[in-house]
Amino acid sequence: MNNQIITRFKNIAKKISVKLEENILSDKSLKCKVVYGPVKTRRLGLVLGINNAQSKTCSYNCVYCPSGKTSCCSTFSNSCLSPYELYISVKNKLEEIKRNGQKVDYILFAGSGDPALDPNLSKEISLLREFGHKIAVYTNSSLIWNENIQENLMFADYVSLKVDTVSEDTWLNLNRPHPRLRFDHILNGIEQFAKRFRGTLATETTLIKDINDNADEIEQLSKYLNELKCEASYFLTPLFPPTKSFAVGPEPIVLEQLSQLIKEKVMNSVLLLESETEEFFATDNFEDELMGLLSLHPVAVDSVKQFVNNEDNLNTLNNLVANNIIKEITYSERNFYVENIEPNLSVAS
Ligand code: SF4
Repeated sequence: MNNQIITRFKNIAKKISVKLEENILSDKSLKCKVVYGPVKTRRLGLVLGINNAQSKTCSYNCVYCPSGKTSCCSTFSNSCLSPYELYISVKNKLEEIKRNGQKVDYILFAGSGDPALDPNLSKEISLLREFGHKIAVYTNSSLIWNENIQENLMFADYVSLKVDTVSEDTWLNLNRPHPRLRFDHILNGIEQFAKRFRGTLATETTLIKDINDNADEIEQLSKYLNELKCEASYFLTPLFPPTKSFAVGPEPIVLEQLSQLIKEKVMNSVLLLESETEEFFATDNFEDELMGLLSLHPVAVDSVKQFVNNEDNLNTLNNLVANNIIKEITYSERNFYVENIEPNLSVAS
């Protein structure tokens, strides 16, 4: 008799738990588009992405940002999902990916803002460990001087730090930081973290025409990067339409000269001069997949069309365009879909 009661209670608890999970998914994660992908990346292979910032909250407002203008320039961010809600969303998404016969290489915290601003980052990483995937974080490094941020990042297996320049003037022009940030603190924080971190450390530098695309910048930067002794120093050019139209990659001739210099001067340098996000994969919900990715950056039209393999998806795509939810633009002779929104810029503390 007792066993029967226990079994009944267990079944009821299971049903409640399933219902709760369903509510969390329908109410929050899809609306916030927190979990996106999987997307194929050149650095990490197939990744499941996490973008847990409530809007594009970033401590920088980079001229080349592919996510559009920073809607809230801040050194603090509210997470969209709590750690447990995120855990459930990721669990469901991983099951869906598995059903589609795919295998994720990394769970990646990266998005339309700086994931290091998320106060729950270490808790989230600890919970997601259960799924057995490596965990990576791409941060803009602006708060790396803060001990709590360093501690949170220690939980990851792979950390990529943004280092576009070692010149303060260039930093101000290129990254347009929150006014309270101090450049010397950031550079010192990066050095400190590089010594402490036991996982795989990488840096990324975006080269922008007439801002940091000269030999002097690379010479200075190479001295700094070489001291960090990281696994790889990636150099990129913007491949998505930038926030500011002048923020384009160097002229081909300049890029050729710089590539040579970078190879000579920077230890473990890798030039990623082609799109990092190469493929778009639609799993069960084409619209959510697409809108999730578009909240981060424009998505190449050819890459989307490759996955519009049935009439439903084609209708969804056509409706999104017809209803002005997304639009098609051309950048660098490539067509992209972008979200049809123009967020307002505000500066908060
Ligand atoms: S490029 Fe990255 S660091 Fe710069 S504003 Fe955009 S999200 Fe922030």
